[in-house]
Amino acid sequence: MGKLLVKLLEPTEGEIRFRFPDSPAGDGSDDPVDASTIRGRQLRAFRRQAQMIFQDPYESMNPRRTIYDTIAEPLAVQGIGHLIDRVDRVSEILTMVGLTPASSFLFRHPHELSGGQRQRVAIARALVIGPSFVVADEPTSMLDVSSRTGIMALMQDLAQRLGIAYLYITHDLAVARYMCDRIAVMYLGKIVELAETEELLRNPLHPYTRALLSAVPVPDPTHRRERPDILGDLTLPIDPPPRCRFYDRCPIATDFCRDNPHPPAEEKAPDHWVACYEV
Ligand code: SF4
Repeated sequence: MGKLLVKLLEPTEGEIRFRFPDSPAGDGSDDPVDASTIRGRQLRAFRRQAQMIFQDPYESMNPRRTIYDTIAEPLAVQGIGHLIDRVDRVSEILTMVGLTPASSFLFRHPHELSGGQRQRVAIARALVIGPSFVVADEPTSMLDVSSRTGIMALMQDLAQRLGIAYLYITHDLAVARYMCDRIAVMYLGKIVELAETEELLRNPLHPYTRALLSAVPVPDPTHRRERPDILGDLTLPIDPPPRCRFYDRCPIATDFCRDNPHPPAEEKAPDHWVACYEV
């Protein structure tokens, strides 16, 4: 889904509604456009606005290219600035992500950096052309614990300073709570619950979200855990049956769930959406 949203994959159906901060047509309109169908100039403008930070800072960089080459590439592709401007811009963004003095990083190669430093370079590469929307695919999961909090704090700081919205993909609820204003819970490719973070954590409604929350570790040796409300094994994600995706594992599934399509999302509380027939 993250790759679809930044158009690294072409959707087979549906819409991607994207609101440009400034109208790419120059007509002042701030209506969302369907990014799945845009082409030409509008697609180029979209690429400037929507970027991605990949999970693995080791794999997402060319080991033969310098840090300058890596970060300056989006500027070159978009035709932004001349050589001197680009050196200045790359130095500025390196400083912003905490790699200082920038001059000592510009001409190093990825293998000369630590995992945390490499992820800072990946963030710099995503932000160098000034996007308004960034998909961050588990950007801290490959890092050691000491680097993680630094990267998360940096991302929050940059979001505030530069006015960026993240779609932050994570398997870690503690990270989601720290980073996100709203959480969408996905199971086998479907969003099953969507709400503001505190509302979702305080009042989980979908059986999958409830099971997820019951699995969060509690730092209290006297705490007695209830058995997680989840059955069986993961359904094969290839060509799943047309019924509710969670049916095979759901403790409250009914015959109705078995005989009907995947439930539509409904607003069960203000701005709290759930896809379940039994909630
Ligand atoms: S729709 Fe039915 S099977 Fe799916 S989560 Fe709800 S109760 Fe369970």
